[in-house]
Amino acid sequence: MNIRADIPSSSPTLPPELRAWLGKERHLLIDGKWVPARSGKTFEVTDPATGEVIAKVAEGDKADVDLAVKAARRAFESGPWSKMSPSARGRLLHKIGDLILEHADELAALEAIDNGKPKNVAKAADVTLSADMFHYMSGWATKIEGKSIPISALAAPGSDFFSVTRPEPIGVVGQIIPWNFPLLMAAWKLAPALTTGCTVVLKIAEETPLSALRLGELLLEAGLPDGVVNIIAGFGETAGAALAGHPDVNKVAFTGSTEVGKLIVKAASHDLKRVSLELGGKSPNIILPDADLSLAIPGANAAIFFNHGQCCNAGSRLFVHRSIFDKVVDGIAAEASKIKLGHGLSEGTEMGPLVSSVQYERVNGYIAAGRDEGAKEIVCGGDVPNGKGYFVAPRILTDVNPSMKVVREEIFGPVLVATPFDEIDDALIAEANNSVYGLAAGVWGKDTGRAQQVAHKLRAGTVWVNCYHVFDAALPFGGYKQSGWGREMGQAVLSNYLETKAITTRLGSN
Ligand code: NAP
Ligand code: MG
Repeated sequence: MNIRADIPSSSPTLPPELRAWLGKERHLLIDGKWVPARSGKTFEVTDPATGEVIAKVAEGDKADVDLAVKAARRAFESGPWSKMSPSARGRLLHKIGDLILEHADELAALEAIDNGKPKNVAKAADVTLSADMFHYMSGWATKIEGKSIPISALAAPGSDFFSVTRPEPIGVVGQIIPWNFPLLMAAWKLAPALTTGCTVVLKIAEETPLSALRLGELLLEAGLPDGVVNIIAGFGETAGAALAGHPDVNKVAFTGSTEVGKLIVKAASHDLKRVSLELGGKSPNIILPDADLSLAIPGANAAIFFNHGQCCNAGSRLFVHRSIFDKVVDGIAAEASKIKLGHGLSEGTEMGPLVSSVQYERVNGYIAAGRDEGAKEIVCGGDVPNGKGYFVAPRILTDVNPSMKVVREEIFGPVLVATPFDEIDDALIAEANNSVYGLAAGVWGKDTGRAQQVAHKLRAGTVWVNCYHVFDAALPFGGYKQSGWGREMGQAVLSNYLETKAITTRLGSN
């Protein structure tokens, strides 16, 4: 088989160990072993900055999912995992967090060549937050407690009852993740499931399988027993659908588009599997007239353009008080024009390409639709690297109205729509809430009391006041409305992976 061990000449160089790792066909993790797909099929992984093939990965489908679920079931019911103490489980999770930090450089480089994001950003954000998630969740392993509950039920004369709740792991969990934060999405899913004692089959995104496969190696290095985490690379319609509908999977945890989220619900409904969903967004970011613009302008810039706009929580609908509208839009355009586009491994790159040709076409399609519908387009910078990379310069669209496609739909690219408002009133709140989504929002204003009042009225799972994109393993994150079901992170995520059992005992009979 002819596998490219070299990185295309147009890409900056990679460390030799990573080059060697990429030169070997990457396999699926099933029952503690790296195995090719049963079908023998592979798919190619590309560097979106160059369009060139950088690795070959086994393409898992239903047959592999079946084996993985079998391994996860055995590990859940009878393997060493089922007997491991909470404290030992916690230590293991902590060790995984440590290993992620030890391999930060390598994991960040994989994100850069696979997803396209700048390596330094991947290291500071994706890798750090992934390690944080394992470290934070490691502490919960020993703190998953039930309650003793006084009850009033009638007992036989002379006896009473003792009732307790016992949270128990839900069982075998199928997890499906997207490509925008490949390592971090794996960490957000795996860490809480493992803390609670579940076992997992993780379906990673076909566009970006590399960092999660490397994480799989680190899980084994940390000493995770065979079958506790199984990792399937492959496509949504085959591997993903097989996992979402698998009769021996107790719960499906999905992150991705709202459209596919609805398919997951359908697939899981025939046997009423538990489902949690982290879906899309079209988040409002509101700049009040008294906002400190030295914070709000760079803040609004980062809110939309961080990760090239490929964030479910991107602040993609900007509302600015009319008195400062031009100043803010010009300010964001000036900030965005300074963003240096380039290969994720190149020195000084601040924004990479979009993840794939599909996303490139999709985002450019939205920009064209905005123009066709009469929006005014401000192209920021425009200094896009030559070659085959899927680079898109940041855009701001003004003169927009709520019925436009670019205002209603999630673009998932570096495109901001900006609208002025006149009063901080119900009409502003209604417009900010005028979306099928409800994932996140931002409010900027020096009068934090007033900003809080606005925050309370926004129908979103996260609201940032005078900041944006502040994530922490301890904070719950998730959506209202069609942005999802359930929460990731914080104590709240534990309920995604636990069932509550009530045990009532009759005490004596005299
Ligand atoms: P997507 O198309 O929904 O894909 C997400 C995952 O689902 C991928 O692994 C995909 O496989 C798989 N999939 C596709 N069709 C499937 C099916 N019929 N059954 C089971 N699995 C299936 O989303 P995406 O384009 O990769 O990611 C972008 C979306 O994710 C955006 O809408 C964004 O807002 C959302 N997102 C949300 C959060 C959050 O926390 N709320 C975080 C990140 C992203 P493939 O490998 O074939 O693609
Ligand atoms: Mg890729």
